[in-house]
Amino acid sequence: MPLKFPTRETLKIMRILIAEDDEVLADGLSQSMRQSGYAVDCVRDGLSAKLILSGDQPFDLVILDLGLPKMDGFSVLRSLRESNRQVPVIILTARDAEGDRVKGLDLGADDYMIKPFSLPELEARVRALIRRGQCGVNPVYSCGALTFDSVGRRAAISGATLELTTRELSVLEALMSRIGWVVSKEQLLERLYSYSEEASNNAIEVYIHRLRKKIEPAGVTIRTIRGLGYVIDNLPAAVR
Ligand code: CA
Repeated sequence: MPLKFPTRETLKIMRILIAEDDEVLADGLSQSMRQSGYAVDCVRDGLSAKLILSGDQPFDLVILDLGLPKMDGFSVLRSLRESNRQVPVIILTARDAEGDRVKGLDLGADDYMIKPFSLPELEARVRALIRRGQCGVNPVYSCGALTFDSVGRRAAISGATLELTTRELSVLEALMSRIGWVVSKEQLLERLYSYSEEASNNAIEVYIHRLRKKIEPAGVTIRTIRGLGYVIDNLPAAVR
């Protein structure tokens, strides 16, 4: 029986976090984002936003209100960027708060919307940022001590370059661009199709086996998810 893989579509569902304490606005936003096909999580205060963003579930975009209870949006943004997470962030600010917008952008926000705003405009900005993210505006991925620079085509552990073949680099890049997410064998094979030799499922297993040995010193693991593919992460074994 052939192995089953999730379809490309199911793997490509984009995940958005909305951090907004205004219930009406949050409900309206999440409803419209869900209708546009995004998976949406909502939190109502800054502390919850910080917690969910530091968890192992990756988001493709964050819509962040600045005036949040428990912890303001600036602090959430600062802690997000300090933890080296490059997820695009759109901040929501009040009309008369130009200083806030400047501070937000300085702290690493990618865009802002002034309240009250039009939903179609926000959605257009969400699409633009997600597109940009997919084109690799943030081409250095890191997981534990392991980094992958997709422009320089270089993987390193604590700054020391790893000796990898071109194919190992391609497989590693596919995994590192989706840290914590399942990447199917099909998707890995697609990465290798550009090379002249025929790529097979067995070849993928060989590359994974070699990569595991090479990245082990970084405390990073490539886990096999039976029937689905592989996930790269640096979680301790107890929480897997
Ligand atoms: Ca607010």
